[in-house]
Formats: sequence, C-alpha cells, structure tokens
Amino acid sequence: MNDKPKKALPPSPGPSPAPSPAPGEYGIETLAIHAGASPEPVTGARNTPIYQTTSYVFEDVEHAADLFNLQTFGFIYSRLTNPTVAVLEERMAALEGGRAAVCAASGHAAQFLAFFTLLEPGDEFISSINLYGGSITQFGHSFKRLGWTCHFVDPTDPENFQKALTPKCKAIFIEVLANPGGIVLDVEPIVAIAREAGIPLIVDNTMATPYLFRPIEWGADLVIHSTTKFLSGHGTSMGGALIESGKFDWARDGRFPTMTEPDPAYHGLTFYETFGDFGFTMKARTVALRDFGPAMSPANAFYTITGIESLPVRMERHVANAGIVAEFLDAHPFVDWVSYAGLKNSPYHDLAKKYLPRGAGSVFTFGLKSGYEAGIRLVEAVNLFSHLANVGDTRSLILHPASTTHRQLTDEQRQAAGAGPDVIRLSVGLETADDLLADLDQALG
Ligand SMILES: *Cc1c(COP(=O)(O)O)cnc(C)c1O
Repeated sequence: MNDKPKKALPPSPGPSPAPSPAPGEYGIETLAIHAGASPEPVTGARNTPIYQTTSYVFEDVEHAADLFNLQTFGFIYSRLTNPTVAVLEERMAALEGGRAAVCAASGHAAQFLAFFTLLEPGDEFISSINLYGGSITQFGHSFKRLGWTCHFVDPTDPENFQKALTPKCKAIFIEVLANPGGIVLDVEPIVAIAREAGIPLIVDNTMATPYLFRPIEWGADLVIHSTTKFLSGHGTSMGGALIESGKFDWARDGRFPTMTEPDPAYHGLTFYETFGDFGFTMKARTVALRDFGPAMSPANAFYTITGIESLPVRMERHVANAGIVAEFLDAHPFVDWVSYAGLKNSPYHDLAKKYLPRGAGSVFTFGLKSGYEAGIRLVEAVNLFSHLANVGDTRSLILHPASTTHRQLTDEQRQAAGAGPDVIRLSVGLETADDLLADLDQALG
C-alpha cells in the first residue's frame, strides 16, 4: 500500500470477527489460552508467530480491489491490521464476552480511538472522577483542544451522572474498580442512567481484568483496557484494547452520525448499516486507527497474548497476596487507614462482593499516621517493592501518587481522585507473601 494514495482508500478491516463463544461454552481459563489462536497452517507452529511485517502481498488485482473496497476481509498494512495483533483482538473480545475488538499502542490510544469514533467537536461526555490520573488529564485538557468537554462527577452517588447529563452528552465513562483508591462503583444504576439517556456506557476494566469483572455482562457497551498492566502482566509491553459489546443501537435517535451517516472518506459507506454489531470497531479501526496511527506492534501483541495465557492464575495470586498485605497494614500501628475493598471494614466491601466475587484486585492505597514525610521515607526504604509508576506487574510496586501519577492535578482533583498527599499506592505482586510483609515491616519501622 502506498502510504499516500491519490484518493482516500478504504483499508482492509482485517479478518472478520469470529462469533464469541456461546456463554458457558468455555471457561475463562480456556479462553485465556485458546481464544483467537490456532496452529499456524503452513509450518504447524503451535504458538502464535510474531508477524513482523508491515504489508501483505495481494493475490491479484481483483483481490486488492476487494480488500480496499471493504468487500473482503484480509490484510493490507499493519497500521490497520496484523495477524499477531488480530489474535489478541479476538482473544480480548472473547474474554470480555464482546463482539469485536481493536487493539492500540497503549491504553490512552484505545481511549482516543473510542472517543474519536463517538464524538464530534462540541460534544460532551460524563466521567467518574475516580480514574487513572492520566485519564483525568487526557479528558480534561487534551480532549478539550479537540472540542470535547468532559464533565467529571463523584461516582459514589450514581445520581450525579444523571444530574450532569446534557443533550450533548454522548457517553458515560467509568472505572468500576477504580485506580488508585481501590474503590468499587455501583454499576447497575449507572447502566440504567446510560440506557435511559440512550448513550453508551464505557468501562475502563484495566484494574479488574475480565477475570475479576466482565462489564458487558452488567450492561456496558464499550470496554477499554490498558493491556500494559495485568493483561501483559509482566511489565514488558505497552498496549491498549477497545472492545464492543455489539448490543448498542447506534441508530436509535440520530445522535451518532459518525456511525449512521455516510462516510465521505469511504465513498459514502455507512458503518452501522454495513457492519452492524461490529460497526463501531470497524469505524474505530478504519478511520481513527488509519488516520492517527497508534497501532500496537506485533511484538507487543505477542508478549500480551503470552501474558494473558496465565492471567487467571496470576490474578488469583495477586488477589490472595493483596488481601494478606492489606490485613497486615490495617493492623499496623503506624498505618492510619487502608482503602482496599477486599477488607471487611471497607465501605466498598458489599459492592465488591456483588460485582467482584473473585476478589477486589491487587492495587490499593493506604495512609500513614505521620503523613506525607513518613510516606516519602517508606517509598525510599523498601527493598523488594519497586518505586515506580506502573501497576499489574509480577513484581510488587509502590508509589506516592501525589508526587508522580497525579502530579498534574490540582489539590482538589487529587483529593477527589483518592490521591491526597499522605496516600501510598501498592500494586501487590506475586512474590512470597511473607517476604512482602517483612519488607514493609522493616521499611515502616
Ligand atoms: C495505565 C492505565 C491507563 C492508561 O494506559 P496506558 O497503557 O498507560 O496508556 C488507563 N486506565 C487505567 C486504569 C490504567 O491503569
């Protein structure tokens, strides 16, 4: 493919999304290993190869024309589709019980693909304020320059979403298990508000992963992942994914012209009419990904596919270790409070039991009695915990959000996001639990 075609050429959408396995057909452990992948047909290679190629040879001129006209599914150019990335896309759709997925270079890129596909300049959306700090900055600052306005609300009272609705609001965005404070949102009433308003509910499911929570089963329409975290799982590879439930009616009241009106860049093709329940994914891929280019690399897709194969066993251990560490801290004389929904004294414990029966994740926060200074000392005194800005690694990680991930926010925003000056965030890894306790004990001492 010439990167500068004379006229806008419709790229290939890649392989047609396979139907998701019927509910109950395979367990999540099986899907994590097998979904989307089969032995490579030419050599029989059992593992998904890294298709380290930018482009794909056409069978003949007619085949090329069909690909460009979106009349057949296949590969043209790896900015749009790549066979290794396609395996990950199908696996993500299967794990979330969605219809189709598109991967991106990072979680933030996946968020951009979703909102570019949804919004026109002048449009608005509502988001929970309890978000990953980078998302608050992306929504509040950079999106504003594209003409998109985000209204942030306190999600602990779902009515706040209702109150913030305007006729221009086109989506509600939440993290159900929220970063960094380990809080859990009451999803059902938020789903009801989005349904009533006729707008999609988007769930960033990074912290929970589909092992702990499956947003589509509760009524979410779009799911976002930073695969950088628990999915790739070893701190090796950036990546993101956007998964579509296939159930949202984009044509209900004409409020989503990007989906229902002819696209001039595709000779008047209408995405919802042509591709139906995977039309949103097609549009995100063939317009947003094509024109802005944040594609996932085949090598990162390979590392992420490999990581996902052990996701269920890793998440079980992450949750078990997090519970042990949270209880230890909760009983420690120097610790003021622990915010982990897995603890019985957490105000979110009942919501966690309802929505996250397999566990409340392994990222949570706590505060030290002697506040800010003690927090800084702790972060510097640990040996086994790594002081860095990531979560979802096999290694245990520690961070002071106020001076790092949430630094760009105002004091007020930091408080609202659960990242005040005394707050320490842990991402509990897979080490021997006693070793983690011993490290924290010596560092707190
Ligand atoms: C890390 C993260 C993101 C952003 O993902 P990147 O892969 O870093 O771009 C978004 N949401 C949550 C909850 C995250 O943890």
